[in-house]
Amino acid sequence: NLAPLQRALLSVSDKTGLVDLGKALAARGVELVSTGGTAKALRDAGLNVRDVSELTGFPEMMDGRVKTLHPMVHGGLLALRGDAGHVGAMDAHGIVPIDLLVVNLYPFEETVAKGADYETCIENIDIGGPAMIRAASKNHGDVTTIVDAEDYTALLAELEENDGQTTYAFRQRMALTAYARTAAYDTAVSSWMAKALDEKTPRRRTAGGTLAESLRYGENPHQGAAFYTDGSNRPGVATARQVQGKALSYNNINDTDAAVELVAEFGDDAPTCAIIKHANPCGVATGKTLLEAYTRAFDCDRTSAFGGIIALNKPLDAATAEAITGIFTEVVIAPGADEAAMDIFAKKKNLRLLLIDALPDPAAPGLMMKQVAGGWLAQDRDNGRITMDDLKVVTKRAPSDAEMADMLFAWRVAKHVKSNAIIYVKDGATVGVGAGQMSRVDSARIAARKSEDMAEAMGLDTPLTQGCVVASDAFFPFADGLLSAAAAGAKAVIQPGGSMRDEEVIAAADDAGLAMVFTGMRHFRH
Ligand code: 5GP
Repeated sequence: NLAPLQRALLSVSDKTGLVDLGKALAARGVELVSTGGTAKALRDAGLNVRDVSELTGFPEMMDGRVKTLHPMVHGGLLALRGDAGHVGAMDAHGIVPIDLLVVNLYPFEETVAKGADYETCIENIDIGGPAMIRAASKNHGDVTTIVDAEDYTALLAELEENDGQTTYAFRQRMALTAYARTAAYDTAVSSWMAKALDEKTPRRRTAGGTLAESLRYGENPHQGAAFYTDGSNRPGVATARQVQGKALSYNNINDTDAAVELVAEFGDDAPTCAIIKHANPCGVATGKTLLEAYTRAFDCDRTSAFGGIIALNKPLDAATAEAITGIFTEVVIAPGADEAAMDIFAKKKNLRLLLIDALPDPAAPGLMMKQVAGGWLAQDRDNGRITMDDLKVVTKRAPSDAEMADMLFAWRVAKHVKSNAIIYVKDGATVGVGAGQMSRVDSARIAARKSEDMAEAMGLDTPLTQGCVVASDAFFPFADGLLSAAAAGAKAVIQPGGSMRDEEVIAAADDAGLAMVFTGMRHFRH
């Protein structure tokens, strides 16, 4: 029951669609008020525009830092039209109502992405724009706020359908979008500053991001879900290009993330393949070729690999693509794919292929969030990595070079396995993965049993764990887990150390003739 829109304030950095919108509004008799650049663009198109400086009685100043920050603007946006006191204040101070606000902000995110220097980034923090967006959105009972050029069409359709007005529901929806925009904007600013200041320990940060995609559902069909990007442009699932296949599901995205983060640990190494199920690897292997890496990863646990997510550290080739299509796979993600490989995949319409320009840097800092009831936990991402020099041999027998190489491989895998994690590795391939158990002994047994099952399926006399190495993501609190691994055939052990009973565990290792090294670093992943 509001009168048709009378006055619009337009202040946009991105002028896309501006002139068409201005013309359509003018044709409806809406008065246009604008800031410098926006007013010029509208005038150049032959439209009548009032300068915001005429409204405020102040020139735009300080290189545009102060343009619209004025009671004439904010009073016009915030006044409740149905409140006698507010209307009285407008009359007393000559404030005119602003019914429609169209703003898009200084391109802060784009400026950062271009690698601009500190001062330039600072200058691109919009102040008046967010202030107006927040004011107009608060007053969505009376005022319409538009922050995306893609909503111009919806706005004009709304005006067309409602005699030059917008509905309350529309204004409400646009206010929600607007607040999401200012939240994401400030998150981008604070993330950039954290990076600029090299802040490693997150202290005061908020979760925020930009909606990338609404998902059909979450982990289960009765859960709504969406995918957000955080503006960091970190290579991985959020920035990957999907070449083919059905839309990614919530679980696909979660598992693909786990897959690509794991394989990134082997970025510069020989061809490596990781097969992920439910965010845990069921096979990780290196090979002389990518095909060999895939085959060996598959051989770790062929049963679980069905319906898995595959990540590769090298561009997908035809031979590997052919082998992958041998069973049902949900997603393949790789830093590129050659044409022959793409042709092979093209025949499998449902198989999703994601390409990334580069693997993420596993050592890069970052912030991980986990929601708990009523709040979030935030921590630095686990970018801890060890080299041979960090290892301390604690047993009488020192590991051989081959055992050492396998232990470092197993350790890097263990970081990406849910705790309690036990990983058996032989010749650069996992031969048993025990994940997510509430006791370390159970993880050791499960990994061994899987290896026995595989030996049976492959017609081998002894399980592949014979003569393997074992990695444990955290220390063995008792000797039992270690002995269980030894019983499975492990000959060398890599683990953080640091248990009250380290001596007992070391003595058990010596008795069993094992070589053991301590990393001094733990990789819990709950
Ligand atoms: P224009 O191109 O019209 O000169 O400027 C448009 C941009 O200025 C928009 O992105 C808008 O958000 C921003 N803006 C509007 N008012 C102010 C203000 O008072 N201070 C600052 N820093 N930016 C403003």
